[in-house]
Amino acid sequence: MPDASEAITFLGTAGARFMVSRQLLASGGVWMDLGGTQILVDPGPGCLVHAIRQKLNPSRLDAIILSHKHLDHSGDISVMIEAMTAGGTKKRGLVFAPGDALSQDPVILHYLRSYPERIETLVEGGTYEVNDISFATPVRHQHSVETYGFVFQTPRHTFSWVTDTKYFEGLSSHYKGELLILNVAMLDSKVPPRYLPLPLDHLTLACARKIIEAIRPRVAILTHFGMKMWRAGPREQAERLTEETGIHVIAASDGMRFDFSRLENEK
Ligand SMILES: [Zn+2]
Repeated sequence: MPDASEAITFLGTAGARFMVSRQLLASGGVWMDLGGTQILVDPGPGCLVHAIRQKLNPSRLDAIILSHKHLDHSGDISVMIEAMTAGGTKKRGLVFAPGDALSQDPVILHYLRSYPERIETLVEGGTYEVNDISFATPVRHQHSVETYGFVFQTPRHTFSWVTDTKYFEGLSSHYKGELLILNVAMLDSKVPPRYLPLPLDHLTLACARKIIEAIRPRVAILTHFGMKMWRAGPREQAERLTEETGIHVIAASDGMRFDFSRLENEK
């Protein structure tokens, strides 16, 4: 009997380099159990440690997906490939990553590229399969390295994850579903001078609101918080967005498990 339960666990919710360097929030990505198919997305620093603490077994992973090669997303990717393949002794599992994470300045070490069953390169407009789950990378994001967000399709649900990007016209039109995950690194676009010249290539809370209002999912989950967003209180910001949009917005927290059955209770 196929397992119909679906849940995602946020191993960490820290976004961008300052939060990750200081570990005020954990980093490490998101573990999805989609009807028994185990998919890990963006295994940042600490992923292996947090997965084990959550009693999630890396040797059961079916796939590892990387949105882009920035270290807060990819720090543990080679570690997790090794764990997925029992140290390279079992050729198993799929790995998906943008081309520039595999070519110049690669974040996936060459010596373990033969360990997984297959490594697939993500491209704009691509669709991919892991067991009975499919996912699409509809549009290349505006970020300093090659970056994609995802639309996942399971036998039971459609959901999207808008990963790191600068906001651009038409962004929302590429994403859909009952659940929307958003990387909201920035509270607003005012950056302290000591951090400049950092590229302003992340979503702010105002951008998140625009995307939520355009897609109107049943539930939106905010994650990948930068310093200012963290100081402002992600939970308070999510409550405010819920009031403003009429859509249930949740701030992810480290170790939070979201069960998809919760979507049935939302209108
Ligand atoms: Zn990034």
